[in-house]
Amino acid sequence: MIHPGTKSLQSKRKTRSKGSGALVPDSALLRFHIITLFPESIEPYLSASILGRAQLKAGKPKKGDKPKFKISYYNPRDYVKDWKERVDRRPYGGGPGMVLAPEPYLKAVQAALKSKMSDLRSRSSEVEVIFFSPGGKQFDQAMAKQLAGKQKSRGVASKEKHIVLICGHYEGVDARVAKILKAKHISIGPYVLTGGELPAAIVVDTVARYIPGVLGKEESREDERVASSEVYTRPEILKWKGKSHRVPKVLLSGNHAKIDEWKKKRS
Ligand code: SAM
Repeated sequence: MIHPGTKSLQSKRKTRSKGSGALVPDSALLRFHIITLFPESIEPYLSASILGRAQLKAGKPKKGDKPKFKISYYNPRDYVKDWKERVDRRPYGGGPGMVLAPEPYLKAVQAALKSKMSDLRSRSSEVEVIFFSPGGKQFDQAMAKQLAGKQKSRGVASKEKHIVLICGHYEGVDARVAKILKAKHISIGPYVLTGGELPAAIVVDTVARYIPGVLGKEESREDERVASSEVYTRPEILKWKGKSHRVPKVLLSGNHAKIDEWKKKRS
């Protein structure tokens, strides 16, 4: 049985690539497949606010709106032979934690990509498999942009892109899974988390911001403009515990060159 969270919104529209754009054009679909034992830990975050609206899962979608990307969840627990079979096993070589068995993970990825296999052969779809691990390559903005982009084969861009995100837990997933799938090892930072679910949410969030139409305005993306980490809104003078806190004068000046200079110093 497939986990109830597994189903994604199904688009019946036929997508036709517009060609060479570095980012996935509106007409092509980016699909995330998250392989996790705990989909409930990230599904609410990824269905809320801007990301939810882009998938038509939050707010009030208007008639004719189309999802900008899709997310499906696959729980390895749904791919064991019978309910008694464990997904975690003792590690070879000893050690304290449990290791996640390879077959349920491989079967979950297989299920995620099954219907796409003919597309993949005809090169109209493209697949990236990511294996989260604290020792992997540091995830950054450049990597997000690359993941949002599409490859061209003989001058034709792929119609759909599938990004498979494999979330480990406990001591991690049996290393053969990443080897068999030729996955990219990605770390979201130099620290160790309990699982790959937050890394998956971070990757989806960062990559989705590069999909046209996800952010209301393209210039909202920080690499399209001078953005500051220090931001202000009304009131101009904030009264708090007997003190007045003012918005920096330069932001009220209307002098955009000076405002950009001020923002650059604080970016
Ligand atoms: N023993 C493993 C090691 O040293 O590589 C760490 C396992 S960690 C407790 C469990 C899972 O959390 C990992 O398999 C990975 O999926 C995820 N994880 C933890 N920290 C991460 C990080 N900084 N970046 C990406 N994934 C991470």
